[in-house]
Amino acid sequence: MEWVWVLGVVALAALAALARALRRTQRHLQALQAQVQADTERQREVFDGLDTGLVVYDPDDRLVLWNRDFAQLYGPLGALLQVGLRFEDLLRHAVQQGVVPEARGREEAWIAERLGAHRHPGEPLLRQMPSGRWRRITERFLADGSLLSYSVDVTELVTRGSELEAARQAARLAGARLEDAIEALPAAFELYDAQDRVVMSNARMREMYPRVSHLLPQQPTFEALVRANAALGGLPVALSVEEWLADRLAQRRNPGAPRLVQATDGRWFRVHERRTREGGLVGVRIDVSELIAREQSLRELNTELDAANRRLAELSETDALTGIANRRQFDRRLDEEWARCQRHGLPLSLLLIDVDHFKRYNDHHGHPAGDACLRRIATELQGCVRRPDELLARYGGEEFLLLLPHTDTADALALAQRCLAAVDAADLPHGDSPLGSQVTLSIGVASHQPAAPLPDAHALLHQADTALYRAKHQGRHRVVQA
Ligand code: GH3
Ligand code: MG
Ligand code: MG
Repeated sequence: MEWVWVLGVVALAALAALARALRRTQRHLQALQAQVQADTERQREVFDGLDTGLVVYDPDDRLVLWNRDFAQLYGPLGALLQVGLRFEDLLRHAVQQGVVPEARGREEAWIAERLGAHRHPGEPLLRQMPSGRWRRITERFLADGSLLSYSVDVTELVTRGSELEAARQAARLAGARLEDAIEALPAAFELYDAQDRVVMSNARMREMYPRVSHLLPQQPTFEALVRANAALGGLPVALSVEEWLADRLAQRRNPGAPRLVQATDGRWFRVHERRTREGGLVGVRIDVSELIAREQSLRELNTELDAANRRLAELSETDALTGIANRRQFDRRLDEEWARCQRHGLPLSLLLIDVDHFKRYNDHHGHPAGDACLRRIATELQGCVRRPDELLARYGGEEFLLLLPHTDTADALALAQRCLAAVDAADLPHGDSPLGSQVTLSIGVASHQPAAPLPDAHALLHQADTALYRAKHQGRHRVVQA
């Protein structure tokens, strides 16, 4: 019976050991469970702490797992989320609640598209959330056929991108406006950068340089442009390209006042050049050919006008019948010469010449013959004039005056005799003169001498008249000194 006890004791011991082992295992399992729970909670915390929306759908497209960010993305929709919810139902809820702005008005089509993309994930999707912010959604399959979807907030990127696009658009608009403005200018326009490359020009500029206008899109330098133009005959032949270039380059370095330039086709341009802030140069050329032509014709007109005025002045001081000076010119010259001779203490003499019995001449030969005779007498008297400062004038009717500056009485008397003799020698027939068969003259001579001065020019004239009167009374055809 003793072995039974032994067996019993052993069995009890074994049972006790088993029980201890079981308790240990149980404790171990509990510890493990606690550990797993702690791990899961930590993972959950990390999961929810992400600012990325995370969601996992099982191979049947049912909701398995999602984090807080995802739940908050669609606002009130977050409350509907539960494990097992089908992705398609989730989409329908979202569309019904109007939290997908881009689906508005085409709900079914949008759902179909979204489902298609969901089952065949490819490029990330860009989506605007009801809050107005932008998310980039990436979807991909996991090893067990589940689908992981995560979305990142890319609002900053999208805004910056659209700001950039807006800035680009504004720049394009500004460029277009500038181009329109430049094309509308009634002048040729060219703009060079700091490397002296032409970066802008308008149609008028291209018209002006037809030989090289095709080169402009390549933005050649000014020098290259000039050389190409010269090679194609665009510079005046008389100019050396090198000299011309050196000159122009110096001008462009230090542009001053606008210059007037003539093109090979003869047109005139006023060239305005200015350095730009970036170190380039802006040039404006205004076609002033019309102005220049108008100026030219104005100058010609003025010259013609001057000539006409001179002619008019001459005519106003010329006797129409004889072509010699008239009384008006004589009066002017008498005043001038009187003043001059006074100033220099010089003598001044005067001959007053009258045709004898000219009324009878007219009556006998007729007035036209009288005119011809007066012309002939003027010619004869003009032939007696010795110096350019002496002036023969028709004083009126058949009377002539000869003004003799720097001439004393003796010289004046001698000249008067020569005049008398010249007309005698001309042998002009007079058909009714009591003096003979010829036309004759009577001459009164007066002189102003520094030694015996007269009060004024009028007195000189008066003296000559008195002398002439005496000559007539003494029988005519003679010279009488005052
Ligand atoms: P005297 O010897 O005293 O000078 O006599 P006269 O006849 O010459 O003088 P008077 O003054 O009496 O006459 C001048 C004449 O001259 C009057 C006019 O018929 C004439 N006469 C004046 N002007 C012209 C003219 O332009 N042409 C012509 N054909 N005759 C003129
Ligand atoms: Mg007379
Ligand atoms: Mg007379």
